[in-house]
Amino acid sequence: MHGQTLQIVVPTAKCVNHCPFCVVGNGRNSIADWESTSRNEGTSYIRRMAYAKEYGCDTMVLTANGEPLQNIKFLLRLAGYHDLLGVAGFHKIEIQTTGSLLFSNRGVLKALKALGVSTVSLSVCDPWSDVVNDKIIGRPERVPTPLLDICDLIKKWGFILRLSYNMIQLDNFSLHQYSDFLGYLSRAASLGADQITFKRLHALDYDCPQREWVLKNGVTEKQWRNLLDDIKHRCSPLEEEMNGNMRYSINGISVLAIGDCMSPRDDSYRYLIIREDGRLYSRWEDKGSLIF
Ligand code: SF4
Repeated sequence: MHGQTLQIVVPTAKCVNHCPFCVVGNGRNSIADWESTSRNEGTSYIRRMAYAKEYGCDTMVLTANGEPLQNIKFLLRLAGYHDLLGVAGFHKIEIQTTGSLLFSNRGVLKALKALGVSTVSLSVCDPWSDVVNDKIIGRPERVPTPLLDICDLIKKWGFILRLSYNMIQLDNFSLHQYSDFLGYLSRAASLGADQITFKRLHALDYDCPQREWVLKNGVTEKQWRNLLDDIKHRCSPLEEEMNGNMRYSINGISVLAIGDCMSPRDDSYRYLIIREDGRLYSRWEDKGSLIF
């Protein structure tokens, strides 16, 4: 099974969070990009979604250069476009979120249901402490986001819950020591997760505060290797994904480790992207990859 993904970039105002490891400069306001383009109407999105489906994408992933839940209007509009594809549409739809706004605005959950979202991928730095987690990602104080309650809510609404762990050296921020695979696994089980993704943070390749932060606080090469070895030895292999990452299973939870999602693997499309300008691309890092 080699599914590819169609990533749809949700246009957002400047991100509500301030993650120091953000590769898009703590989000930027892209609503204007979307509103100013003539391609922001339905046919543009529908044609490109249909193309991606024909090309072999079986999963639609909602992402953003900010927090995708900030634009419910777009999510509802996309739900309408997607409905027009009927059975030819996507049956597997994921959203990547830090959970900010999920707890404080229940309208968001309704919008995700309307769109047919199957999986909520929750990005987490410290799954043991809300205080540390919120502090690291710079979540605004007016947006309370208790992890346990959010996970309960996601499950209650019938979504698949994926915990997407940003792998950092937690002992730099709290009394909690850097934990090993089993520590993260048992925490995920207690939060009711169906799936776990371990993500190694990407350091930008030029001198900047983002690079400095990631090099200082991201897991070390040794810690990452140990984690991969642990996963390999303790879990049962399932299948290799299109992007080359191996999916495993343990105790009814699926496990994926992503080393560097920014590195190109080969010449074939790993994913397609509809950006805020309503156009389809094959590479995140290269606007020259425009398809149409
Ligand atoms: S939530 Fe995403 S876009 Fe916003 S600051 Fe964090 S990494 Fe950047």
